[in-house]
Amino acid sequence: QVLSNVLSPNDTGITFEDIGALDNVKETLRELVMLPLQRPELFSKGQLRKPVKGILLFGPPGTGKTMLAKAVATESGANFISVSMSIITSKKFGESEKYVKAVFSLVSKISPAVIFVDEVDSMLAKRGSQGEHEAMRKIKNEFMVNWDGLRTKEQERILVLGATNKPYELDDAVIRRFPRRIMVSLPDALNREKILKVLLSKETLAPDVDPKSVSNMTEGYSGSDLKNLCVTAAYCPFVKFLRRKRRRRARR
Ligand code: ATP
Repeated sequence: QVLSNVLSPNDTGITFEDIGALDNVKETLRELVMLPLQRPELFSKGQLRKPVKGILLFGPPGTGKTMLAKAVATESGANFISVSMSIITSKKFGESEKYVKAVFSLVSKISPAVIFVDEVDSMLAKRGSQGEHEAMRKIKNEFMVNWDGLRTKEQERILVLGATNKPYELDDAVIRRFPRRIMVSLPDALNREKILKVLLSKETLAPDVDPKSVSNMTEGYSGSDLKNLCVTAAYCPFVKFLRRKRRRRARR
């Protein structure tokens, strides 16, 4: 199961070019993640300049956090392993910790690698917070112990990339382990236009479709909302055609 979750760099199929807007975030990720993964020798001298072991992407749902994590893996040539909460919680008592251990043992063998933990708040929530079960506490401890254990030169090329919509629910100890926290916010009009251009780049558009005017009409939309809008629009001519056909048939 752990192995089925591993994607080699080219398998994620996502690059920074597929992500519209978020220029600052992409720039920061390039500097923080890709450089240490690609050029570890630049970080070998002194005690202060060390590759970061954890980066937290936080922001509203659908703003592209998962896409960014996958693009980081592709562009840095790192293997990508996504730690799925649904797999962890579906396991029998005691098995979840073994799964977490297996993830870290595997990435140590395939570094450089990115461990992506989506909805990191559901695994690494505040200690003693409401609903924190004994089982979850054990999983969290196992995760942190293994994460702290990444100390060898090779293991320095392993990065934990967490994503969350609820950063305030994270345990303080967890927050400390993510020394870099990057906000991925909802796009403004200019950035919505950039996202629409990426989403529509391979489509044939009607002459009156203008991404700028659509971006002005979609205040509050996330990248994911814009994608859904485009998918719905792509179906429109097709749906209209079928409806017309049905009406014609009914008239006969
Ligand atoms: P969640 O917090 O709900 O997990 P997320 O922030 O991880 O969401 P993604 O899963 O990366 O968001 O985005 C969902 C989908 O929305 C993507 O698969 C993509 O189709 C589209 N999308 C989101 N942001 C962008 C963007 N900036 N450019 C292009 N597509 C985007």
